[in-house]
Amino acid sequence: MNSQKAEKKQTEISIVGSGIAGITTAFHLGKKGYKVNLIDSSVNSEINNLCPKNGTQASLGVLMGNIHKRSKGRAFLLRNQSMKLWQEWLTQINYSHSNLIFEKPLIKLANSEKEYQSMIELSNNKYGIELLDNNSLDFWNSIFETKLKGGLISYEDGRLNPIKLLKLLMQSLDQIKINKIDKNVCRITKNNNLYNKRWNIELENNKFISQDYIIICSALNTQKLLKSIGHEIFLEPILGQVLELELKEGTSNWKKWPAILNYQSINFIHHHPNRMLIGATIEKGTKASLIAKKEMLSLKKTAPKWMKHASISHEWSGIRAKPINEPAPLLKQLEPGLLINTGHYRNGVLLAPACAEWIGRKIEG
Ligand SMILES: Cc1cc2nc3c(=O)[nH]c(=O)nc-3n(C[C@H](O)[C@H](O)[C@H](O)COP(=O)(O)OP(=O)(O)OC[C@H]3O[C@@H](n4cnc5c(N)ncnc54)[C@H](O)[C@@H]3O)c2cc1C
Repeated sequence: MNSQKAEKKQTEISIVGSGIAGITTAFHLGKKGYKVNLIDSSVNSEINNLCPKNGTQASLGVLMGNIHKRSKGRAFLLRNQSMKLWQEWLTQINYSHSNLIFEKPLIKLANSEKEYQSMIELSNNKYGIELLDNNSLDFWNSIFETKLKGGLISYEDGRLNPIKLLKLLMQSLDQIKINKIDKNVCRITKNNNLYNKRWNIELENNKFISQDYIIICSALNTQKLLKSIGHEIFLEPILGQVLELELKEGTSNWKKWPAILNYQSINFIHHHPNRMLIGATIEKGTKASLIAKKEMLSLKKTAPKWMKHASISHEWSGIRAKPINEPAPLLKQLEPGLLINTGHYRNGVLLAPACAEWIGRKIEG
């Protein structure tokens, strides 16, 4: 074994939180040969979205990496790199032998002139994005019983079902021997003895672990964990709701729903012959609002017949952590050996690989 490899094997890293930020960070560091613990009370629990245990399990997994206004800056770079890395990582986690599909393409519809103008700009700048032709627009006009201004199709954007993705990533963590600890972290303390590891983690069962690095990926709880060691960051909860609609026979006029769709800032995912997922709302706080749900369901009073007649077969909500006065996500090294990968607000699934890679680069110096 060469000396670099041996050094990595001795570097102990704990990741707090097993949402998409924590899992992908563990995956990336584990592949590099580090000794990694992934700590979360729900790390061994069943993964599903009917009773989501974190923001990731509630999410829809839509990856809008290319349909994005900016063409430079941090947000652009994270999106761009993540879209490349997802392709590579999917191969590494052997997704072609699983039931996970990268569902493509993605279509975004405009019902205002302003929205359409920005689509025209986007279609000029970006590879893989085209304006919808008249036939496609007629199709969507008839689906939504409206007169749309226009739309975009992005052939490389789409969706990864987050539940299937999380399950596959968890299996990959087992293969690369990531140690999963199903406990909550109560406290983090600094170890001032220079000859020992830098950080101590106190678990809910009063056990302590000493580590070289701690990566905090614990969404809203990050604030509390950091405060006790003198670091203040500010996050606020933003809730999102998802509805699964059961469509009534004879009310819809399409045979095949051709894409992952974003219309009026709502994602439409036709995931079963008579079922459509719609979401996600953006609501401050931790309580689901009935008004937000009704607005989504009625498409702000423009719902077509098939939506009006549908019944709700399932619904769930999840909470994301939004940084206050700082752009999301928060990627920082607070002290030697203490890093955060958190504050993932709207695009946590999309941005996860590039954020994990950022953490890896910091650790490798
Ligand atoms: C309804 C909805 C739809 C969404 N749709 C999309 C989408 O289509 N595309 C997209 O990219 N993003 C989407 N998002 C956003 C995305 O889900 C989030 O950005 C992302 O899941 C955040 O991941 P995370 O790992 O930071 O947080 P989480 O998934 O919330 O994970 C945090 C974890 O930390 C653990 N934790 C907390 N405190 C401790 C502690 N003290 N000790 C140990 N563990 C702890 C928690 O148990 C939890 O498992 C959506 C979100 C919602 C709610």
